[in-house]
Amino acid sequence: MKILLIGSGGREDALAWKLSQSPLLTTLYAAPGNAGICGRAECVAVDVTDHAAVLAFARDKAIDLVVIGPEQPLVDGLADTLRGAGVRVFGPSAAAAQLEGSKGFTKDLCTRAGIPTAAYARFDGAAAALADMDRFGLPLVVKADGLAAGKGVVIAENRGEAEAAIRAVDGPMVLEAFLTGEEASFFAIADGTDVIAFGSAQDHKRVGEGDTGPNTGGMGAYSPARVLTPALEARVMDEIVRPTVRAMADAGTPFQGVLFAGLMLTADGPQLIEYNARFGDPECQVLMSRLDSDLLPLLIAAADGRLGEVSPRWSDDVALTVVMAAEGYPGTPRTGTVIRGVPAEGEATRTFIAGAKRDAQGNLVASGGRVLCVTARAKDVTEARARAYAVVDAIDWPEGFCRRDIGWREAAREHA
Ligand code: ATP
Repeated sequence: MKILLIGSGGREDALAWKLSQSPLLTTLYAAPGNAGICGRAECVAVDVTDHAAVLAFARDKAIDLVVIGPEQPLVDGLADTLRGAGVRVFGPSAAAAQLEGSKGFTKDLCTRAGIPTAAYARFDGAAAALADMDRFGLPLVVKADGLAAGKGVVIAENRGEAEAAIRAVDGPMVLEAFLTGEEASFFAIADGTDVIAFGSAQDHKRVGEGDTGPNTGGMGAYSPARVLTPALEARVMDEIVRPTVRAMADAGTPFQGVLFAGLMLTADGPQLIEYNARFGDPECQVLMSRLDSDLLPLLIAAADGRLGEVSPRWSDDVALTVVMAAEGYPGTPRTGTVIRGVPAEGEATRTFIAGAKRDAQGNLVASGGRVLCVTARAKDVTEARARAYAVVDAIDWPEGFCRRDIGWREAAREHA
């Protein structure tokens, strides 16, 4: 089978790594790819914002499946263009990707389908939000509607902060009540009608150790999230994921692709914080590292509406990934610096590449904020993080940094 993978992050490098092991694969193309992906796939210079160009490429190469990694092309309707022209795609339509693209859409769906989530209200602008803000108490959660790359949410501790946050958005927004608990990510794959669980993870959003400093795209993750017990996972499927897939189908916008639920595990049970319509980055790196079965038949089955015929098989190991970022990130990262000494892939460790490319001499050069995802498998988080940090320490990149405490929550539980 000929596959076209869309994207250029660590998530897509992990997908490329996994797809390239499939006995069903004949050629893996990637657009635009990165230094890691281009070592596993044939990278092509197709502009992924030009949907007609992607379609022309898919037709020209007789692509059997297009796998769309990031959210932006999904929200922009790349899957619709391809599917409408008869090309098989893994990834939701623009209408279904609203689960990620519009917080208001998702909150309204939760109300309709009886899905547990924080109390909320939607507003078109600051004046109405300011007039109504008191009914949610403090802290108040202020969310701009629409994609904001993790930067559209403010947790306001007091009235002054809340007013400032509301004024700063002054457009479509959601105000919601603050939920208390531990956060976990839950993944499912849907084919429009059927949906299967696809693992769990916990990430580390803040740039600094001890979960301090500004938010990032994610500085590390591990899987599974053991705090999501099998009993809680069953509740998440029954109370959140299945009702969502059913409601999307009923609304005439069936969801096909990865449904990534951001959950708060409250004293009253799991509540939905947000949906993403694709794999997380770096959660994908740890999920792929633990997936023992072939990924490709699963993606094909989801695209064809035959999910009932497949079931993923997971390793009992945990996987953990440490993101190495360029200094300056999540502000303006310092790019162009050379990275040396990335160890060769081993049985238990591998380094997925995110924002890096090869220069004319073949050096690995930082080209983005998050640059490397050093990933390890082991029987527990304590051992996996020791393996991952041993690789981190072998990498010669003075202009890079990482958090040294990835997995702290789980490691503490393991030592309790
Ligand atoms: P991202 O996609 O990067 O996670 P986002 O902009 O889509 O972020 P949310 O996931 O909705 O926004 O919120 C970001 C973070 O804010 C959550 O991971 C959670 O830590 C916190 N948060 C959001 N809503 C609530 C809530 N109701 N109660 C407590 N914390 C919340």
